[in-house]
Amino acid sequence: MPMAPHTCPRCGEETEKVHDYRIQSVRHLKMAERPTVLQYRKRRYVCPCGKRFAERNPFVDRYQRFSKEWDEQS
Ligand SMILES: [Zn+2]
Repeated sequence: MPMAPHTCPRCGEETEKVHDYRIQSVRHLKMAERPTVLQYRKRRYVCPCGKRFAERNPFVDRYQRFSKEWDEQS
């Protein structure tokens, strides 16, 4: 994921200061295939106001939406 300015959810300022990284596992179940776990290095930002927040991640959103749709089908 490229570094990008992120807007603080508390004060609305933009920050590019990285706080730390967390490894997040995203489980991805695809039909008729064995489950795959995607490892994703989640970047967390810190704002000058002290608020820490995770980067926006369309990648995870997509898979969560996929699993939700899959749940509704079954
Ligand atoms: Zn802030």
